[in-house]
Amino acid sequence: MRNGLAHGNHRTNDDQYSPPMPPKGVRRMWEGGPLRQFSDTQVSSHYVGYSGPILKGYAGSYVCDRCQRPCAGVYPSHPSETQREWLCGGCRKLGGKP
Ligand SMILES: [Zn+2]
Repeated sequence: MRNGLAHGNHRTNDDQYSPPMPPKGVRRMWEGGPLRQFSDTQVSSHYVGYSGPILKGYAGSYVCDRCQRPCAGVYPSHPSETQREWLCGGCRKLGGKP
């Protein structure tokens, strides 16, 4: 009995949130910021020139953290103290629940 785990409650990956890697062509705009379509070149007419301290290039639609779909805008959501997500209108209506 040297590990002291009396209740045997083994931690699994299920209770640790790990955000999926953004799809190709999608970047997180800053640490803890929203996902957005991003490219070095203007790959589509709706991409606009973007120049920031971290990223330079062309930015397209924002991308929802939850459904990974491009959308017109995303809203910050704080399901827990350590978790921050940017959700589209549809996902936000669901209350940030999967
Ligand atoms: Zn969504």
